[in-house]
Amino acid sequence: MRAKRGTNQPSLFAASGNTPFTVAYGMGVDSTAMLVGLVKHRIRPDLILFADTAAERPETYEYRPVFEEWLQKEGFPPITTVKYAPRDFKNWPPYYTLEDNCLTNGTLPGIAFGAASCSVKWKQGPQHGYIRQWEPARQAWAVGQRVIKAIGFDNSPRDRVRTYSASPKDADLYDYVTPLIRWQWDREECKKQIASVGLPVPVKSSCFFCTAMKPWEVRSLRPDMLRRIVRMEARAFPRLTSCEGLWRNTVKGTRGGTARPGSMTTLHQEKPTPSGR
Ligand code: SF4
Repeated sequence: MRAKRGTNQPSLFAASGNTPFTVAYGMGVDSTAMLVGLVKHRIRPDLILFADTAAERPETYEYRPVFEEWLQKEGFPPITTVKYAPRDFKNWPPYYTLEDNCLTNGTLPGIAFGAASCSVKWKQGPQHGYIRQWEPARQAWAVGQRVIKAIGFDNSPRDRVRTYSASPKDADLYDYVTPLIRWQWDREECKKQIASVGLPVPVKSSCFFCTAMKPWEVRSLRPDMLRRIVRMEARAFPRLTSCEGLWRNTVKGTRGGTARPGSMTTLHQEKPTPSGR
């Protein structure tokens, strides 16, 4: 099922009752602001899950202890890390990260081909796997309750129409809530709210090779990460038929969009534009 963002939202304050309340934390601006807001609204989650693809930027991992210390001071639970654990390997060598998954199979993350199957496999799946074994969830499901899962989509026009995927067999187990949309916090408001409690504003979180990265973001990566992008695209290149690389296909930028090549490797071979973007 694809549960449309903003539908099926129980009262956030149901979280103060017996309903297990979980947070999907990505360590970026939106989900950090969501936890800041939950502290301000005195809604304490039972579980904060971070699904680690092992491909976030170093600044994101460095933010974790800073934020975790603040959460602890506010009496919130610690951040629990979950990871995808592959069981069967069709190809060699075995992989334990999304990047190695792509290298072993000579492919790119699913989002490069259209659907963000990489997120389903490496983020949503491990979170659900953890919650499935989590006693409060098991007890809730045993009496027909759903687990509340808070997602950090903000109140921007783009996020308000986003959807959150759940597999058909899990669709009846969760109620998805989007507190930032309920509070009408867009991205700028999220940054203000984070700063208002004395925390630094984190960088945008995502895998450093994600198709959603902007050209200026890719240019700002460390050389070792750029080399890893080149290696991933080179390894996948012989098998690519529907796209040029991590950015799918070349965008000319003639209709107001940002011009960029279909391959991030090609971007590195180009000279930056005067604006650097
Ligand atoms: S951040 Fe991008 S590449 Fe990483 S799992 Fe999500 S959609 Fe896939």
